[in-house]
Amino acid sequence: MISLYLAFRLISRRSLQHLLIICLVNCMCTLALNSFAQSKTPPKPLVLLIGIDGFKPSYLTLGVTPRLKSLAQSGVLAKGSISAFPSLTFPNFVSLVTGLTPDHHGIVNNTMTDPATDQLFTLSSREAVENPFWWTKTTPIWTNLRQQGGIASAMFWPGSEVEINGSRPNDWVRYEHGMSHEKRLEYLVSWLSRGETLRPNLATLYLSDVDSAGHEFGPDSDQVRDAVAKVDRTIGTLIDAISNLGLKERTTFVLVSDHGMASTPAAKSIDVSQLLKDFPKAKWEWQGATSAVRLNGENGLQVLNVLSQQSNLDCYEKGKLPQSFKFGTHPRIPEIVCVSKMGYTVTANPYRKGPLGQHGFDPQLTEMHGLFLASGHRIKSGELGLIENIEVYPLLCQLLGILEQQNDSKHLLKDIVLN
Ligand code: AMP
Ligand code: ZN
Ligand code: ZN
Repeated sequence: MISLYLAFRLISRRSLQHLLIICLVNCMCTLALNSFAQSKTPPKPLVLLIGIDGFKPSYLTLGVTPRLKSLAQSGVLAKGSISAFPSLTFPNFVSLVTGLTPDHHGIVNNTMTDPATDQLFTLSSREAVENPFWWTKTTPIWTNLRQQGGIASAMFWPGSEVEINGSRPNDWVRYEHGMSHEKRLEYLVSWLSRGETLRPNLATLYLSDVDSAGHEFGPDSDQVRDAVAKVDRTIGTLIDAISNLGLKERTTFVLVSDHGMASTPAAKSIDVSQLLKDFPKAKWEWQGATSAVRLNGENGLQVLNVLSQQSNLDCYEKGKLPQSFKFGTHPRIPEIVCVSKMGYTVTANPYRKGPLGQHGFDPQLTEMHGLFLASGHRIKSGELGLIENIEVYPLLCQLLGILEQQNDSKHLLKDIVLN
């Protein structure tokens, strides 16, 4: 009996010790695994890409942008961002998210005709803008991100409402020019408020007010100053919302514009309505600061000869444009492309004067330079010279930790800007 009792005590003491050791090892393992997991999975970063249409870097000196200035002070502000040619909205917003020149991504203008099918692309046609036909060569960063396991949300961005090669951003909204800034932020903040696993890695915001005011009233107008101030307030509200969500430390803000804006007084309007009257089939397919003629069988050299008499217009065969334009091979580009001297714009309608502000001029000219400002998580502080906007795409990929698709950039930006 006594030996039985001793044996029981012995066994139970042994198994207790055993149990304690197992518990201890278990706890240590759990602790070690937790701290390993914590060190290996830092909080999911957020890249916020904000596109301000027609915003010139010089607008930062108007004295109405306290929030943008403070972002610039803590981050990197470029002297200017050189647009891809032509310095128009859709070609450039697409270059920013693909790293491709318009010649390669195929959105060669805001207005395009496909010569093979005669289809027309214009911004005012929802059907055209959302027709994947135009976008097959355009794989935007949100598609790269989704394919590599990330989440993308687009509060407007040219192309984001199109199902390109079967894919869209996880969140997107059909474009509505008049949607208030408040409503745009409401969408955006609701996406950013999701839990860690559902929250986007990349979110975009697009604002058009500065471009609209620049066109209607000219870049030096009070209306532009008011629009710039409004955009600054909206971005300030967004930064505050991101702080309130506890996401500020992990957010990288990348602010870009697609081009600048130049004064285009009515007196500098070039009326081309009668210029090609001897070539009845030729058509001015593009008008404005970048213009173009579709020959429709007319003789190109003869047409060029007539156009060469226009002192404020530089016209080229599409294959002979200045090299810096990196433009001229895509079939959607008409045979003859013209670029106006600064301030001059082409109109084929003598009764319709162009707007007081325009873009589409040579992207190298200061008036056409756009904004590049990066600030926040992983961004150095300092100033930057001129950059090309196709360099933004690889920087975004690096920030998102994803592989780039083939693109036209020289990878000049990421080492200068990233910590
Ligand atoms: P631009 O003619 O080059 O000045 O183009 C600027 C215009 O593009 C703005 O007034 C916007 O309303 C328009 N826009 C921007 N994003 C979109 C979009 N996703 N769909 C249609 N139009 C757009
Ligand atoms: Zn624009
Ligand atoms: Zn514009």
